[in-house]
Amino acid sequence: MADKTIRLEESVPGPWYVDDTCTPCHVCLDEAGPQSGFHLLQYTEDESKVIFVKQPQTDDELLAARNALEICPQNAIGDDGD
Ligand code: SF4
Repeated sequence: MADKTIRLEESVPGPWYVDDTCTPCHVCLDEAGPQSGFHLLQYTEDESKVIFVKQPQTDDELLAARNALEICPQNAIGDDGD
């Protein structure tokens, strides 16, 4: 389970976030990154982490975010942020 106390500050405000345990292995980008057709997740500028750049709002976006959460091997994606 992701830990909102170590949420990456670069992520946009809202319930969905990535925490500092992101490696980044990039598999979540296949679900919710630019090449997936969704633009919810992307690399940070130095590509050391992945962050949310948009909070999911539509049903399709929420499904994509949930898929990213479930596929993350680090459990670094959470939806219980503030
Ligand atoms: S799947 Fe998890 S560990 Fe991999 S890049 Fe995405 S948030 Fe980071």
